[in-house]
Amino acid sequence: MRPTTRHRGNQRAAELRARALRRLPGGVGSNVRLASATAFFARGEGARLWDVDGNEYIDYLLGQGPNFLGHAPPPVMAAVADACRNGIVYGAQHPLEVEAAERLCEVLRWPDMVRFGLSGTEMVQAALRLARAVTGRRKFISFEGHYHGWLDNVLVAVDGATPGPASAGQWPEHLADTVVLPWNDADLLADRIAEQGEEIAAVIMEPMMCNAGAIEPRDGFLPQVRRLCDAHGIVLIFDEVITGFRLAPGGAAERFGVVPDLATYGKAMAGGWPVSALAGRGDLMERFGSGAVNHSGTFNGSVMAAAATLATLDLLTSRPPYAAIADVGGALMAALPELGRDHDLPLRVQGVPAAFHVSFGPPDAVHDYRGLARLDGERYARLAEALQDHGVWVAPRGIWYVSAAHGDGELAQTLQRVAATLHEADPSWA
Ligand code: PMP
Repeated sequence: MRPTTRHRGNQRAAELRARALRRLPGGVGSNVRLASATAFFARGEGARLWDVDGNEYIDYLLGQGPNFLGHAPPPVMAAVADACRNGIVYGAQHPLEVEAAERLCEVLRWPDMVRFGLSGTEMVQAALRLARAVTGRRKFISFEGHYHGWLDNVLVAVDGATPGPASAGQWPEHLADTVVLPWNDADLLADRIAEQGEEIAAVIMEPMMCNAGAIEPRDGFLPQVRRLCDAHGIVLIFDEVITGFRLAPGGAAERFGVVPDLATYGKAMAGGWPVSALAGRGDLMERFGSGAVNHSGTFNGSVMAAAATLATLDLLTSRPPYAAIADVGGALMAALPELGRDHDLPLRVQGVPAAFHVSFGPPDAVHDYRGLARLDGERYARLAEALQDHGVWVAPRGIWYVSAAHGDGELAQTLQRVAATLHEADPSWA
């Protein structure tokens, strides 16, 4: 366990860590959490977390995104508790599920139909299967640095010369139908589609790349992708698991004004409750309805999932947090590089107020994964650890998420804590 500089102690966490290591591989429940394996939290409320030793943090990771309304938002908790008193899962339909599907389509505006699931990973697979069924084609195009879950056909390592398996137990054959291109380059995509379009069922992307950096699409990129897909009968899938409800009520599709054929959602959709969705055009989604394409799941559309989704959508539409998030996130984006300059540090920020990325490097915008790889992410990862010790909970990979619960108090305190971190004598991240 690394020493803390500001915090009172870590004795309970150290004890739990030892126990966790015996019964949970790596002491964690998800490989993503190996990056924060020594952290054990006791409580989250609003924009703050408390660990098991009583140390308090302002949270900018938000459970990897879901806590867009802050931790434990009372209206969502109440809706879930009320709804499940009459049963949790029926293995059949129920009124809240229908209502949640109606509200989701209404808020997103473009889709006709929706299927609910549990994780983003599974909805991506449902989308790819549907696209293959509709087109009768096998291959799909994805992009360097984009994350679409941990399963065999989408988990790609792009560090080497050619994209390959990213996990032991995954074979190159698993990626035989996965075409991986640099993102944000419409000409490259057009060339590949000109060569191989007849074999391509789908193009899938994060419409703003948030799993590597926080990189917006270049002007005109998404409309060009839309045109190419239309011209070649390719299904366009937006993976909005992060961007959905975060960039706007209608996610990236609304913010950038480009409508996909299918889109996956999760995270911010339900105030932290575990639920995901695949939304899409009726003529495609009907293939699930006819039984031709299988998508199943015991816990799909559970009473709690539907209640949490509805309560969250109600909040997002009745009290939209977007302007306040733009203020707080925008202020952070402006202040962090300035604090860096005060200490002669090339601290750089890129993204949007609700999801931005911090690293060390030149201030010029980067537009793809290769550009991101040229920044000094390793040094930032060390700074992130120091920030955690000073009570700012951020991910080593550089992403900062801002929630509806972050206000001026959190902003001021965050900047104080960042300044204190940068003032450290003999810093570990220098
Ligand atoms: N797609 C994107 C864009 C994601 O960010 C994630 C998770 N970080 C997933 C898919 C997978 O979602 P889950 O972890 O819920 O399976």
